[in-house]
Amino acid sequence: MPALDAFAIQALEKLAKNQRIRTLWPLESAGGAWVKDVNGGRYLSFASNDYLGLSQHPMVVGAAKAALGHSAGAGASRLAGGNHPLYSVLESQLAQWKQTEAARVFGSGYLANLGVISALMGAGDVIFADKLSHACMLDGAKLSGATLHRFLHNDMASLKAQLEAHRTQGKHALIMTEAIFSMDGDAAPLTEIATLAEAYDAWLLVDVAHALTALPTLPKDRTIMVGTLSKSLGAYGGFVVGSQTVIDYLSSSARSLLFSTALPPAVLAAASAALGVWMVDAAPAKKAMQHAQNFAAAFDLPAPDAAIVPLVIGEENTALQAMEMLKAQGFYVPAIRPPTVPVGTSRLRFSLSALHEDADVERLIQAVKELFA
Ligand code: PMP
Repeated sequence: MPALDAFAIQALEKLAKNQRIRTLWPLESAGGAWVKDVNGGRYLSFASNDYLGLSQHPMVVGAAKAALGHSAGAGASRLAGGNHPLYSVLESQLAQWKQTEAARVFGSGYLANLGVISALMGAGDVIFADKLSHACMLDGAKLSGATLHRFLHNDMASLKAQLEAHRTQGKHALIMTEAIFSMDGDAAPLTEIATLAEAYDAWLLVDVAHALTALPTLPKDRTIMVGTLSKSLGAYGGFVVGSQTVIDYLSSSARSLLFSTALPPAVLAAASAALGVWMVDAAPAKKAMQHAQNFAAAFDLPAPDAAIVPLVIGEENTALQAMEMLKAQGFYVPAIRPPTVPVGTSRLRFSLSALHEDADVERLIQAVKELFA
């Protein structure tokens, strides 16, 4: 057997032993709140991050179709191949949306975090990251060569202690957090974090990928925001917003921007149309939030800060079994396991969307109650 296969077999055995094998679920169709698998099963899905249902919006789909008339792929990076006019439109919209001077679109949210963090930070710098920060933020930190310190989740005493102990060890310092945590749905105390950033002369990177509501005002001279076009905007891609000078610097130095092909025009058109809809219609965000509040209230959970509600179960296997039991009732709710979440906190992650009807959420609540009865 070739050595590579031997390695993969051993690695897979180890993953299987820890219930960490990931499998792709073959679907026949996905779209809207429902998914259909290749065996003909139809499931009401609570797995998508398309919180506002914009991936399905006629104006968004229409814009993508119209742009597809020109070309399916971009063919080269933005810098090498030339900048498509749809990029300029979308970047102006993003800057206006987040009330910053400028924006730059990347290939994905993952690529944006990798590129931005590794361009801003380097050896001799220090990064302070919330323990639950998304994998791509931590990967960006590793790639940068800066020293990474992680503070306890949303714990300002822990952040302060880390800053006190390590800030002076770095020339530049960066505090990183998600505005809304992807697997917990809770909000970061951004105002308090910004105060500590000021006090310890650190920059602040906020990942807004899951945020549906307005954020507090943050100091413009030390804050950048990274986000995605792939979740509540229903399209694909990532972005960073900040001052014109910072965006100019990132445009010449973020390697995941410089060395990766530009997004297909249809994707840019979709994101741009979605943002146009979001900026004038607050109803879908309200509806998703209302569903999340109703769902959380049914289980006596605190009112959620976003359209994400986790039910923490504990062990990997138990979470997987719960997922299968709900599937047998016609609901798809993904079991989230380590390393996505800390060991011992495997969970069902419920993602609520404007695409769900009130009756859908009611039926889900009943099914989950029966599961845990
Ligand atoms: N940041 C956060 C907080 C996320 O949850 C995700 C996606 N899971 C990303 C970044 C990456 O975004 P994208 O899917 O656009 O690569």
